[in-house]
Amino acid sequence: MEIRYFDNAATTRVKKEVLEEMLPYFGEKYGNPSSLYSIGRASKKAIEEARKRVASLINCKPEEIYFTGCGSESDNTIIKGIAYRNYKKGKHIITSKIEHPAVLHTCQALEKQGYEITYLKVNKDGFINTEELRNSIRNDTILISIMFANNEIGTIQPVEMISKIAKMYNIVFHTDAVQACGNVPIDVRRLGIDALSLSGHKLYAPKGIGALYVKSNIEFEKIMDGGHQEKNKRAGTENVAGIVGLGKACELANLHLKEHMQHLKGLRDYFILQVRQKIEDAVLNGSVENRLPGNVNFSFSGVDGEALLLNLDAKGICASAGSACTSGSSAPSHVLASIGLSDELARSSLRVTFGEDNTKEDVDYLVENLYEIVQKLRK
Ligand SMILES: *Cc1c(COP(=O)(O)O)cnc(C)c1O
Repeated sequence: MEIRYFDNAATTRVKKEVLEEMLPYFGEKYGNPSSLYSIGRASKKAIEEARKRVASLINCKPEEIYFTGCGSESDNTIIKGIAYRNYKKGKHIITSKIEHPAVLHTCQALEKQGYEITYLKVNKDGFINTEELRNSIRNDTILISIMFANNEIGTIQPVEMISKIAKMYNIVFHTDAVQACGNVPIDVRRLGIDALSLSGHKLYAPKGIGALYVKSNIEFEKIMDGGHQEKNKRAGTENVAGIVGLGKACELANLHLKEHMQHLKGLRDYFILQVRQKIEDAVLNGSVENRLPGNVNFSFSGVDGEALLLNLDAKGICASAGSACTSGSSAPSHVLASIGLSDELARSSLRVTFGEDNTKEDVDYLVENLYEIVQKLRK
């Protein structure tokens, strides 16, 4: 059976051009970038080329990019790195209730070490309240970490406003942009972002490679000890092939961002319209206006989300209930709970996230099957 993949927020397929650019670094170009002979220097050069490409996607300087093992590592590195650097100045951090576990659990780990965390609530569309943010700032606040766009409901936060507030009080502003990078334009200079996390496998590069941008004047402690790689901030021989792949994916994302967004938005809005026309009692979760171009999240009252997924899977359809990172646990999504959904509605939700390979015909197939399965499960 043909697989129809609608779970691009969980991971994406590596692009052909990305894989092709990576392959030599598993073969003849296997030198260690720290070595001085020619194949070592070639690896080093490839890393620096990739760094420029990643920097160019978000408009920072290449030397402000650190390669990491994944988005989660980027989040850990900056949040713990800022916390450990500034503990004498203060131990208070502000984040939101709807962050990815990579941020939430990092903050919880810091709480055990004596840090204090404020978790901002969100409204029914998933937005933080910037007035509440302002009121939460204290003399000992050292970091504000608010995600750019949410992985479950697609809501895009008022990043520019958040960054203005952070600037006003001279507090470092980090944003987890793992879902946003490559799907919406991001200019860290214009937006005034101090630090940003991104991940390869969410933008058509492989799993196991991530990047962290940190503005050049911001100091942070390293959390990994060892060699001097990545300006002494991330020990470990570089994942050269992964880095090359991430660089290529960022270059392509930059080049095709407009068309990519239009393509995803077209599919998203068509799908939302079809569901609303054909299926009763379908509630769209998240913001209608400020939403990731490829994200849809519906609750179908009276339908068990897990049964829905299994039935869709039987038709070759890959989608998600909430987030891949929380599946396997029986607790309903913390994001859906935070926007005010009852446990029951949260458990009846379906996340569909489109990617570059999806077509309108895929959406028709999805809607047709979704309609039948929802009817069946409601009986
Ligand atoms: C996927 C994701 C992460 C984690 O990225 P990994 O590379 O899988 O560690 C972090 N934040 C958000 C918003 C994500 O969607």
